[in-house]
Amino acid sequence: MPKDYTNTSFKDFENIGGQDVFTTAAEFQEYLNYLKANGHLNYRIESLSPVGPEMDLMLPGHSKPTRSVCLVSNDYLGFSQHSKIKEAVINATAQFGTGSGASPAIGGHFSYHAELEKMIAGFYQKEEAILYTTGYTANSATLQCLLHKEDLAILDMAVHASVYEGVLTTTVKTFLHNNLEMLEQVLRNAQAQYRTKMVIIDGVYSQDGDLAPIDRIAELTHRYGAYLVVDDAHGIGVVGEHGRGVIELFNAFDQVDIITGTFSKALGNIGGYVVAKPEIINYLKYQSKQHLFSTTATPAILGITRAIELVDEEPQWRTQLWDNINYLKNGLTGLGLDIGTTASAVIPVKIGDIPKTLEAGRLLLAAGIYTNPIMYPAVSKKNARIRMNVMATHTRAHLDQVLNAFDMINSQLQIAKSE
Ligand code: PMP
Repeated sequence: MPKDYTNTSFKDFENIGGQDVFTTAAEFQEYLNYLKANGHLNYRIESLSPVGPEMDLMLPGHSKPTRSVCLVSNDYLGFSQHSKIKEAVINATAQFGTGSGASPAIGGHFSYHAELEKMIAGFYQKEEAILYTTGYTANSATLQCLLHKEDLAILDMAVHASVYEGVLTTTVKTFLHNNLEMLEQVLRNAQAQYRTKMVIIDGVYSQDGDLAPIDRIAELTHRYGAYLVVDDAHGIGVVGEHGRGVIELFNAFDQVDIITGTFSKALGNIGGYVVAKPEIINYLKYQSKQHLFSTTATPAILGITRAIELVDEEPQWRTQLWDNINYLKNGLTGLGLDIGTTASAVIPVKIGDIPKTLEAGRLLLAAGIYTNPIMYPAVSKKNARIRMNVMATHTRAHLDQVLNAFDMINSQLQIAKSE
């Protein structure tokens, strides 16, 4: 009899006790085959065209690419395709070549790294920053370097996986997402027991698109003698009048002790950064192993320097993005769908049931719309959803196509919120 995978998720194959990992991998392969056979393996879909609001996708079982409307990219401002940024990257490559040749302490630190460090620090009204090769390591490596088992990391439960990885060797307590009473309780109970206490939150949360009330969290954190770390990966370039993210929205530049983020989303490139007091940054430069022992970013990061300038020079992209966000949100709520409390370019349509979510993802793809079905373990089992990322370069026609597809799927699967 074929296995029933109805409620199975990737998590079920993560670390099976008493079983050789090659056996686990073989069982996982069977699950992947099952998903594929049912048209539900909508991951790692190959695109043959550049990042954009439309892409040519090699869909499972197809021999030719399909042009689809895409809501899967974090390239919120469309900067990965901006002609001025491409020009900066081409010039940087012509001048400096394709690689940096060494890790930073021993020959891999160049003027283009120093320039970007200065630029991103200044963007947040600070003096110093350190670069990492991904946003993921900016979080995981920094926390791993600064916190140990005598210390306490206090996490909002919904922070990114990279934060969880960064705190594997320290003491960890979590609080329910954005629940300040619970945060205060954890802070109160932790007084004087730990060496360093850090509260770690996201600015924009990557699954719900909602925001952290940074001002109130900062006040609480400091009242109890802890430090505040904010990862604003999805806020930079998008949120705040000048695109400085959630920290700008709450005017909390002086209240956040450590800012982390990524160049891979609105800034259209790759890499991560940490902005903090000079002494913390200098400590990381010489003590954070993933920075110290890893080759620095390529000269193409001069595209990021240009992108940061364009956040100020061309605010029209942000205006256009917000027009699109508001249009899509209004359309989805008009259809009776549950989009939660998003206040960013991340828009979920909450369905709450894994098989229905997978089926909605399949039907959307069949209708020419590429979105991400998100399930456990990324979100809890009852919180399965379709997640979309809006771009400044989506047209009204793209968004209308999305709304029509959701209307059709709702009549087929009844995914609207029950009152
Ligand atoms: N933080 C958050 C909140 C994210 O969503 C992501 C990307 N998914 C990261 C960090 C990691 O950034 P990067 O993709 O640059 O490694």
